[in-house]
Amino acid sequence: MTRETIRVMKFGGTSVGDAACIRRAAEIVAAASSDAAVVAVVSAMGGVTNRLIEAAQSSVTGDRGPGVEIAEALGKQHRATIEDLVSNDDRRAKLVAEIEKIIEHVTGLCYGTALLRELTPRVLDEIVSTGERLSARLLASALCELGLKGVAVEATELIVTDNASGRAEPLMAQTRERATVRLLPLLEGDSVPVVTGFIGATAGGMLTTLGRGGSDYSATILGAALDATEVIIWTDVDGVLTADPRLVPEARTLREISYNEAAELAYFGAKVLHPKTLRPVSEAGIPVWIRNSFAPERPGTKITATGHPTARGVKAITAISGVSLITVGGRGMVGLPGVAGKTFTAVADAQANILLISQSSSENDICFIINSEDETRTVEKLREAFAFALAHHEVEHITVNPEIAIVAVVGERMRGMVGIAGRTFSALGRRGINIIAIAQGSSEYNVSFVVEASIVRDAVQTLHNEFGLQRPASRFESVPSETAVASL
Ligand code: ASP
Ligand code: MG
Repeated sequence: MTRETIRVMKFGGTSVGDAACIRRAAEIVAAASSDAAVVAVVSAMGGVTNRLIEAAQSSVTGDRGPGVEIAEALGKQHRATIEDLVSNDDRRAKLVAEIEKIIEHVTGLCYGTALLRELTPRVLDEIVSTGERLSARLLASALCELGLKGVAVEATELIVTDNASGRAEPLMAQTRERATVRLLPLLEGDSVPVVTGFIGATAGGMLTTLGRGGSDYSATILGAALDATEVIIWTDVDGVLTADPRLVPEARTLREISYNEAAELAYFGAKVLHPKTLRPVSEAGIPVWIRNSFAPERPGTKITATGHPTARGVKAITAISGVSLITVGGRGMVGLPGVAGKTFTAVADAQANILLISQSSSENDICFIINSEDETRTVEKLREAFAFALAHHEVEHITVNPEIAIVAVVGERMRGMVGIAGRTFSALGRRGINIIAIAQGSSEYNVSFVVEASIVRDAVQTLHNEFGLQRPASRFESVPSETAVASL
């Protein structure tokens, strides 16, 4: 075994969803550890984090019942999984005792929340972190069942973060120091650390979480801290696809894409990765794989600095729904300075994130897109900000259209390639699809446009076809993913 090779392997909630899944995850780790040191990172068992949030939030009403009930149900679920997973009596008894203690802790926190009728972000983080603390112990035990030295490790000992509860950011220098000091000796001793995903702690030891879906981020933070050879994200899909298969049944798994493309796709709808996941590894050039733990023989998608060596410009078509188009308009706006500034300050005041902006040079209106859940707040702030201009008809309307979707054509090599936007809009035109607004970032990694929500499927299918994405781009991609492994 070469200690120079370190693989970080993260298993998502569905990949550790029950005893059979955890066993499968353990087998994947065991196979990988025959020729490399493996650090596993786990999410909570599927659905557990949501239940914990529910427990916390229901306790704040002062009612102890629901919190206690949820904690008991989670205890039962984890005990049943252990029954199925761990055959050794001593190991099982020890594990059950540890699980009971964690469940007692979370019950106590819910009880305290109910007494105080107050849920601070700090306590919420403590409560929601329980899921990963439980699942890490389960996977570590499953590894022991296979004869490996699985050791559950709390990420609070490894990942040092700022104190932003619920959305903490790692402090990489300190994380690197702690992670190497704690994990390298374990790897030297042939142990397999199983680290709780999602969680970190401040330098002073206060527990934090990295945000929903943050275990992917945990894996790449640790990958960067340990100078890992690669990070593998095991999930329940084959990798990153050319389009959402629910919209385009002939969508294909991409064999290799660049960090930039993956980041665009993570942001624009393909919810395979937490959006911050690639930040820690892209600088160091550590490759990240997305693979299916339910079909480990499939190759998955590899994410690298350069992406796949194919000349194809367009890699994937994505769509985002659940968004609203807001327009601030009026003839009096033409040449009026400060409207854009005021508009976006108001949006920032509403704490809404802007997904797309467009203004025509006639300056008659500015339109932008935000998540629909931020709509009411944003419009209120805009009406306040423009009260005077509305009264004086400099700004005539602030309108909202929630029946829209963004479609994005993504590909790093689109950059500088002439004619992609032309082909995109001609194809849509031939199909009779009306475009409401258009935007292209100067990175040129994506061309985005806005259509009515009801025709999003048609738009995505039309472009998937136009750019021939159902066909492999080159002989390197020519093998269907199910059989690709034979040619590796
Ligand atoms: N368990 C956490 C969540 O559901 C983190 C993760 O799954 O990545 O958000
Ligand atoms: Mg998850």
